Amino acid sequence: MTLTNWAGNTAFRARDVHHPTSLEELQRLVSASAQVRALGSGHSFNDVADTTGDLVILDRMPDTVEIDSAAAQVRVPARMTYARLAPIVHQAGFALANMASLPHISVAGSVATGTHGSGDRIQGLAAAVSSLDLVTADGSVLTLSRGDADFPGAVVALGALGVVTSLTLDLVPAFQVRQYVREGLPVDALADFDEIMASGYSVSLFTDWRDTRVWLKRTEELTSPDWYGTRPADAPRHPLPTMPADSCTLQLGVPGPWHERLPHFRPDFEPSGAGDELQSELILPREHAVKALRELYTIGDRIRPVLQISEVRTIAADDLWLSPFHGRDSVGLHFTWVKDPAGVRPVLELVEETLAPFDPRPHWGKLFTRWPSCPERFRSLARRLDPAGKFANDFTRILLGE
Ligand SMILES: Cc1cc2nc3c(=O)[nH]c(=O)nc-3n(C[C@H](O)[C@H](O)[C@H](O)COP(=O)(O)OP(=O)(O)OC[C@H]3O[C@@H](n4cnc5c(N)ncnc54)[C@H](O)[C@@H]3O)c2cc1C
Repeated sequence: MTLTNWAGNTAFRARDVHHPTSLEELQRLVSASAQVRALGSGHSFNDVADTTGDLVILDRMPDTVEIDSAAAQVRVPARMTYARLAPIVHQAGFALANMASLPHISVAGSVATGTHGSGDRIQGLAAAVSSLDLVTADGSVLTLSRGDADFPGAVVALGALGVVTSLTLDLVPAFQVRQYVREGLPVDALADFDEIMASGYSVSLFTDWRDTRVWLKRTEELTSPDWYGTRPADAPRHPLPTMPADSCTLQLGVPGPWHERLPHFRPDFEPSGAGDELQSELILPREHAVKALRELYTIGDRIRPVLQISEVRTIAADDLWLSPFHGRDSVGLHFTWVKDPAGVRPVLELVEETLAPFDPRPHWGKLFTRWPSCPERFRSLARRLDPAGKFANDFTRILLGE
């Protein structure tokens, strides 16, 4: 059976798929292979994880989680999902600072592509990494930690430097979150974009570029009845207005642990319509948010025929070389498209063209057509750690200009 990504729009071309059960087996495999790449949980929408050689899936590796309470850190096996990790961390009295909308994604794969949630003061998931172990081209294990010169290049690295086997993540004390959905945000409220996005620990706008709803994830109760001209949703909501909300985390302001509120989707359910979508996201400097949103409203009629829903999120800057948030507080403009690659492409190109004046960067795990330039220091790091291009694939060859 052909192995595909979650959305089924990429069929992996690997000659062989391996599930090593130990570090030693993985090291032998990598050292003997001419072309090799790790696959996480396969949730990316493009061919970033593909290879024509050996595809390695770490789902049978030892899955011990080690929590260092004194240091407030957790060491995680690379292929573990956030859905499995989060309750373990919570049980120990800790939390991850943020989570993505879907908890089913693997830690290594998410970090490798710069995956993020929302929150003015919260960075992407990769910024929580303080150290990682990777098996490099000759089969040896390299540990890189915060403070090492190569570290900022090795965290968001698209699998191009080696196979990551474990990551150490920073933790914060466990906390409670209340999730509210507010409907009918008037277009005029865009003028208050900064205040709206600052109204919760994590805030997302869901819009079809006509009607906008707000997902507010707050540590405090929301008391204002007509918050920014909106009305409270009278029942749980799915981000797609027509979908039932049974796959969504609890809303209506009921307090609950961080990992049961920060993701939009529950760990024990696949989101409704699972796999029946494509996604793109462009990440812009935060200061361009309002102008960029206004531009997208003007092409809303062109976007809507192939759009399921858009999501607007904010993300704090980090210092990771390939991170879409490198050096700039950012706004993420996300598009969940219908699953029609040919119909979506011209509209995606139009969106990219519309947003081009705002210096956008693409989400590495989603669909895009305009490639950003690759920082020279990442190119030299990839050449130094992987001189023969063992971990290269079509995606990284374009990025690295090879
Ligand atoms: C329904 C849905 C919701 C999503 N929500 C969000 C969201 O809220 N925010 C967001 O930012 N993104 C989101 N995404 C995108 C998703 O987070 C990214 O595509 C992410 O990379 C998925 O992780 P993965 O484990 O599936 O990675 P994969 O697609 O399996 O791999 C991604 C990359 O990581 C590399 N990789 C994986 N494991 C390793 C390893 N052990 N060592 C080295 N390299 C490795 C692969 O080679 C590849 O280059 C969503 C995707 C879906 C399908």
